[in-house]
Amino acid sequence: MPEPSDDYRVVVFGAGAVGKSSLVLRFVKGTFQDNYVPTIEDTYRQVISCNKNICTLQITDTTGSHQFPAMQRLSISKGHAFVLVYSITSRQSLQELGSIFDMIKEVKGDLQGIPIILVGNKCDENDKREVSQAEGEAQAKMWRCNFLETSAKKNVNVSQLFQELLSLDKTRTMTVHLDGRSRSAMGSLRLKEKCQLM
Ligand code: GDP
Ligand code: MG
Repeated sequence: MPEPSDDYRVVVFGAGAVGKSSLVLRFVKGTFQDNYVPTIEDTYRQVISCNKNICTLQITDTTGSHQFPAMQRLSISKGHAFVLVYSITSRQSLQELGSIFDMIKEVKGDLQGIPIILVGNKCDENDKREVSQAEGEAQAKMWRCNFLETSAKKNVNVSQLFQELLSLDKTRTMTVHLDGRSRSAMGSLRLKEKCQLM
């Protein structure tokens, strides 16, 4: 039997200003801010049910490239699941994820069964797009991970992202409680949206 108090730890990585904090805040609090506030590493907690027990979903919002490698390693070794965020308006931000992916592979050894999602955020900014959806998908295929385009600003695919991440973990069944309702991470109560021009 798993410990009822077991935490499920999700770590969000990505270059500065790609929208990591915005995605986490949109998911946890339902809010969005247009001004940029650089983050000091922060962890948000939500109660979820996990194998029919109550447990805590911990989402760690990292500081991006300012994070020391030793801290990155520690977050990776403690993390159960990973969100790798780039901005579709910055090719550079996708390239920067390469070193983080390599570090996850190195620290975890075998990535089989470890939930990882590659996320192209800011899909509302299609006029400034530098990375096509196909390129994002191709990268995810190379890394054998899942892929989604999101907009924290317009609330596109944000809850889907976290639900999909939790449903990728086959070792436990997790349900997220949002807005007083319970949403099964296994189910498809909210279908993935095609991120399109807005
Ligand atoms: P972080 O450094 O990765 O945590 O990035 P932030 O979440 O602080 O966001 C950086 C900037 O991008 C802020 O000005 C946000 O308002 C903006 N931003 C975040 N997500 C989106 C999005 O989905 N669309 C648009 N247009 N802007 C976004
Ligand atoms: Mg931030």
